Amino acid sequence: MNNELKKLYDVIVIGGGITGTGVIHELAKYDIDVALLERKNDIAMMATKGNGGVVHPGYDPHPGTLKAKLNPRGARMYPQLAKDLDFHIRHTGTMVFAYSDQDLKKVDELCDNARVNGVEQVERITGDQVRNREPYVSDKVLGALLAHTTTMVDPFEVAIAFAENAKLNGTDIFLESEVQDISKDEDGNFTITTNHDTYRTRYIVDAAGIYADDVAAMAGIHEYKIQGRHGNLCVVDNHLPTPIRTVMFPCPSPDTKGIALIPMPHGNYIIGSTATMRTNKEDTSNDAEGIQDLLDGAHKLIPNFDDGSVIRTFAGQRPVALNNDNDFWICESETVPHFIHAAGIQSPGVASSPGIAEYVRDLLADAGLDLKPRPGYNKYRKAPVDFSECSDEEKDQIIAQDPRYGQIVCRCETVTEGEIVAAIHQPLGAHTVEGVKRRTRAGMGRCQSGFCQFKVMKILARELGIPEEAVKFEEDHSPVLLGHVK
Ligand SMILES: Cc1cc2nc3c(=O)[nH]c(=O)nc-3n(C[C@H](O)[C@H](O)[C@H](O)COP(=O)(O)OP(=O)(O)OC[C@H]3O[C@@H](n4cnc5c(N)ncnc54)[C@H](O)[C@@H]3O)c2cc1C
Repeated sequence: MNNELKKLYDVIVIGGGITGTGVIHELAKYDIDVALLERKNDIAMMATKGNGGVVHPGYDPHPGTLKAKLNPRGARMYPQLAKDLDFHIRHTGTMVFAYSDQDLKKVDELCDNARVNGVEQVERITGDQVRNREPYVSDKVLGALLAHTTTMVDPFEVAIAFAENAKLNGTDIFLESEVQDISKDEDGNFTITTNHDTYRTRYIVDAAGIYADDVAAMAGIHEYKIQGRHGNLCVVDNHLPTPIRTVMFPCPSPDTKGIALIPMPHGNYIIGSTATMRTNKEDTSNDAEGIQDLLDGAHKLIPNFDDGSVIRTFAGQRPVALNNDNDFWICESETVPHFIHAAGIQSPGVASSPGIAEYVRDLLADAGLDLKPRPGYNKYRKAPVDFSECSDEEKDQIIAQDPRYGQIVCRCETVTEGEIVAAIHQPLGAHTVEGVKRRTRAGMGRCQSGFCQFKVMKILARELGIPEEAVKFEEDHSPVLLGHVK
């Protein structure tokens, strides 16, 4: 189609991770035309699905940095967002353990940091107070920082909720749309070329994660460089013999918060994460050394930790803007007006996301974008029913209305056929086995989809009206079935 005939968007956001979806959720409040371009076939497929999900309250970042400003701001917004957008949140608190006098000094420093960063409800407690709260903790722990306001989320669930709410409020979302070229037109607007189509826009927000520098380079911008900081993580079963309720960290090092034990919103645990710089941006493989470090880290926190409770490993890469003192890189380009960097969003990018979104909104306004409230804006989004959380009476009512909720598909996580059908037909519905898993938890339990993957695949084929051989596990070239044998 001729560019002259193409719709001119006010803002196009590139990248559908927690940063990009956070930004479109924020911009949907205003009477402007916004689109999101995401190269993968679903939202939240890169760093946003490969992380620990801790909404750190903000005691960690150095005062004066962007992180120190946006992390506490974002974290404070989460409880209300969880209510409005109907995603799971667990109020856990964090403890940062001291094993030596030097660590106790670090804990004091973190408590001071918290005060300067405006983080409330942070205190130093003794080793005995730690073990009163969490009886399985090592008796080598001398004391800890206790941050009461830490919460836990499943970041892909948040990103999907952000994107669905934005879509309901008029944002266009284009998946499988990889940005391959950006040019500035004579009228000052941008033309963005993807593998499928071209788009025109007045402003760009570059939230392309580890590829943000490559996307900026397409517009002739070379203001920073991104490299990945790889992290291994382990998923731990929900029946830990040494259960915990609080997120537990050792004292942090300059590059990492250390290996933590993390109770997740749905009752299982994560051990995360290692931190090593990588040059291959696509490398999300696990390494044996890293996994051993995680197990050793878990034993340091809980000496009797049961290694056999690990049911899966995964990895992600934090997008790190190099030579930037470990801070985010969020600003308008110095050389190309109306191009906003939302880059270098390493940890705590999940915790900071709502704060980052407001900051990007303000940068757009400073760059001249007129932001008037959107008439009829709906701040709510309803998630499909989570059957495992319903009372017996509610379950009876739901099954009476739709018998598919009486068919359990995933036995480990008690996910029903009704929930899978609902997940497929959501506003930003699942169309792969892994997409169903992220939305419903089918396949996330101890058997790791050994029993349910085949059934999920059949339901996807039926609901999408495609042959079973066409159902994808995740990305392109990942069929679940290869064909018929007779
Ligand atoms: C091991 C690990 C543990 C972590 N733990 C935590 C934690 O506990 N708490 C916390 O707050 N943070 C944590 N983080 C950090 C957090 O995961 C990241 O800060 C956050 O997910 C970054 O989100 P993003 O949207 O900026 O990037 P991404 O999620 O990577 O999203 C970028 C998107 O851009 C898309 N894209 C790239 N190039 C293009 C293109 N050319 N065209 C279109 N789309 C494109 C990608 O496909 C991707 O979907 C952790 C990270 C890791 C790796």
